[in-house]
This record gives sequence, C-alpha cells and structure tokens, in this order.
Amino acid sequence: MSTKAIHGSSLKDAHGAPHLPIYNTTTFAFENTQAVLDVVEGRTPGALYSRYGLNPSIFALEETLAGLEDAEAAWAFCSGMAAETALFLAHGRGGVVCVGDAYGGTLDLLGDQLPLLGIPTHLILGDELDQLDGFLAAGASLVFFETPTNPALEVLDIRKIAATAHRHGALVAVDNTFASPVNQHPLRWGADMVVHSATKYLGGHSDVTAGVLMGSTELLTPIWPWRKNLGSVIAPEAASLLARSLRTLTIRVAQQNASAQAVAEAMQAHPRISRVLYPGLPDFAGHQLAAELMSGYGGILTIEVNGDGAATSAVADRLRLFALGPSLGGAESLATQPVTTTHHGLCPAERARRGITDSMIRLSVGLEDTADIIADLNQALAE
Ligand code: PLP
Repeated sequence: MSTKAIHGSSLKDAHGAPHLPIYNTTTFAFENTQAVLDVVEGRTPGALYSRYGLNPSIFALEETLAGLEDAEAAWAFCSGMAAETALFLAHGRGGVVCVGDAYGGTLDLLGDQLPLLGIPTHLILGDELDQLDGFLAAGASLVFFETPTNPALEVLDIRKIAATAHRHGALVAVDNTFASPVNQHPLRWGADMVVHSATKYLGGHSDVTAGVLMGSTELLTPIWPWRKNLGSVIAPEAASLLARSLRTLTIRVAQQNASAQAVAEAMQAHPRISRVLYPGLPDFAGHQLAAELMSGYGGILTIEVNGDGAATSAVADRLRLFALGPSLGGAESLATQPVTTTHHGLCPAERARRGITDSMIRLSVGLEDTADIIADLNQALAE
C-alpha cells in the first residue's frame, strides 16, 4: 500500500517532478474539433473541463485513490458529504437503510433532506439488523454504514450485512473514514462501494476538505453525471494537496494506530475513566470482529469520564496538547465531546437510543510523541 500511495498514478510529469504539479486550470484547449469530440465521446481519455473531473490533478489522484481500496475506479469530491450525496442520489433512490451510528451530517442528510425528495430512509442501529430484511423487501436499494462507528466505535460485520443486502439485490456502501484503507478494505468483505471523508486520514493534516467514492467502474459510472451536474467535484488544488498527503498515509496511520492503542490502555487504567471504547482493547465488545476484519484498530477512541456533562466539558477544557475540534485524522491530536459537536443536533432521546452520553470525549490521536499525548490526558483528568 505504501508503494501504491506514492506511485499509484500512471501520469508522470513531463519534466520529472516526483509529485505532479497542480493543473490549476478550468479548461483545456484542443488541436481541432475532432480531438475535442474524441474526449467528449470517450474515445480518448484526457483533460477537458475541471468540473467534469477531467483534469490531470484530479484523475491522477483518483487512480491512486482507487488503488488504495483495490477498487477499479474512484471519484473525488469537494467533501465527504458531497460524495455521500452523489452516492445516495445515484444508487439510493429506492430507499437507503443506514445501519448503526454515523456522522451527524450523514444522519441529517438521511433523516431530514433525502425524504424531502421522496427518498425513503431508515436509520436502524447495529443491534436492530433483524429489521434489515423488511426494509430491503420493501424496495430499499442501498445499505450504508460506518464501521467502526462514530463515536462509539461499534464494529459491524460487513460480510453479514452485505450478504443480507445482496440477497435482495441491494447495494452496500461502507464509510471507511475511521479505519482508513490502511486498516480495513470493505470491498474485500463484500461491500460494493467505499466512501471516505478524505478530509480526515487521507488528507491527514487538517488542511484539505475532500471526499471520495471507490468501487467498480459499473457502479461508479452512474454516479459521475451526478457529481458533474451537482458541481461537487474536488478542486485541482485540493486534489494535488490530497495526492501529496497520500504519500505518507501508511506511516501516519501506523503511528496513530500504535499511539491510540497505548492511549486506550492508559485510559483504561485511569481511575477517572469509566469506559474506554476502542476496538484494539481485548475486552471491547467489537474486538474479535475487528481482529477478523481489520489489520489495525485505528487512531480514534472514545473515553467516558466518571462524571456528568459539565465535569466532562471541564476535562476537555483542561486539555492543552489536544485541540478541541470536531474533526479527526490530522497530525495534531483532537478531542471533542460529541454531544457538543458531531451529535449536538440529535434530541436527547435519540442520543440515549444510540448510547451517546454526555460523559463521552472522542479522541483523534495525532502524531505527537505518545508519552506527551498520555501526559496531556492525565493532567486534564487530575482533579
Ligand atoms: N463520514 C465521517 C465518518 C465523518 O466523520 C465525516 C465528517 O466528519 C463525514 C463523513 C463528512 O465528511 P466531510 O466533512 O469531508 O464532508
């Protein structure tokens, strides 16, 4: 994967630059009308117009991204939400079933916006899989889920959900943002498509907002016109920045996996922590499944402070190395209390149904020295 992340694009710079320079252009000029038609009609692959994704910075990035998930194709978007929107509009019009917890924006899109377009959506929890058959029998065409989930790190069995969906002729898309392609390959376990908020681990430096969809050419082809006409393609500048970041993806994630494991073990032993949710802990509910599906347990964990919401906010506010921020996957450690950010929009009853408590702090472990990360948590947890 490290080799693919660095050499995954077949497009080489004419002057030998090891990283393809940015094609900061909206359009491309042609020798003659026939040459334009050859690209427009798909006989010659090539650059044409950047909003179509037909820009070398974009298609070089996409070739690399596809390789990371062992997919035939990838489309890059201006955000993870843009990728999800195009996915739902292209493949979810019969209905979308979302299994388990998900990013708050995804829940909003599925719960509030898509129904306005007449698209039926069903939000079930990981322990409500008995309802899946019914929704699929009623015509739902797409099953969507994150694994591990946000913020409880629930691990879902991609193989089992894919088998159920495929029995009904439905498609399966997995949001692999939390795991990253370094730790999990959903396509290998039966998923049809993979979504990433590339804003997170793929970008890795909290300086680029982007999204990506990977899958077979057959399944991605109908998504392309949605991206083109919604205008939700990635910008060439962001594409180049993202391709640059991918070159260090594997070493970044390997370090974050190792640090998160150490942080999880330290927090589990801490008297002020009542629970640590991390797939790498042997006594975590999803550990066995994660050991089967994942090659690393990721850089995100959620700790539950022994105290109420206010006491938990006070701990978060005392963090000095961790920045308080709702994102994840960057070089810097980030902490967020989900009830104040990612899951703020859910009513208390829905949060309770999803097991999201006021005492949770989600940690995105960065690339600082592990001992400094643990020391920061220890000082914030000291009375
Ligand atoms: N999926 C997950 C798991 C996320 O955490 C996020 C954002 O936090 C998204 C999707 C949406 O991605 P973006 O912010 O790039 O639109």
